[in-house]
Amino acid sequence: KSFKDLGICEQLVEACENLGWKTPSKIQAEAIPHALEGKDLIGLAQTGSGKTGAFALPILQALLDTPQVLFACVLSPTRELAIQIAEQFEALGSGIGLKCAVLVGGVDHTQQAIALAKRPHIVVGTPGRLMDHLSNTKGFSLRTMKYLVLDEADRLLNEDFEKAIDEILSVIPRDRKTYLFSATMTKKVRKLQRACLRNPVKIEA
Ligand code: AMP
Repeated sequence: KSFKDLGICEQLVEACENLGWKTPSKIQAEAIPHALEGKDLIGLAQTGSGKTGAFALPILQALLDTPQVLFACVLSPTRELAIQIAEQFEALGSGIGLKCAVLVGGVDHTQQAIALAKRPHIVVGTPGRLMDHLSNTKGFSLRTMKYLVLDEADRLLNEDFEKAIDEILSVIPRDRKTYLFSATMTKKVRKLQRACLRNPVKIEA
């Protein structure tokens, strides 16, 4: 099946082609049709499976349908992964003027606050630094977010981000879509899944 067969719009199919993505990976082929139907997703997938595209494409398609800033929030366990996720969003969204902000530790707060002041569509961050900006950066909130992605949830929970994740869940709207991706299904991941997903569809890479 092609990206078009999965329901991806022409503009984004072109963006995939520009990246050299000719056919969807297994996780993309399974996730995208459910995501486009508006389902929450649990994806069991490793890095390298194409999982970033599996959640980025449906989010970008929804954004094209109803353009809005502060549209999606992606939580990542590490700064390196957060940067890679933002790079894939930016590559897929380069033709549509997509703006992303990356909120990770070890980088100057002010630069990140400036990125937030530019009203990004997508915010990708580690939970600790994201919470930090929610408390300290004026005008930044999660109130308008339509999508939440928990990427590498098993690692998010290992990194001791539980408290920050709980706080983020308490301020992000309930009537959002949520995608949780994890390499392993641990007890803690199942607990998080119960706390933040609604009738999710489970898919495997
Ligand atoms: P990920 O598992 O999301 O970290 O993606 C791993 C790598 O695969 C990234 O470099 C992507 O650009 C690439 N990739 C993702 N989807 C596809 C696809 N459908 N075809 C070819 N490469 C892809």
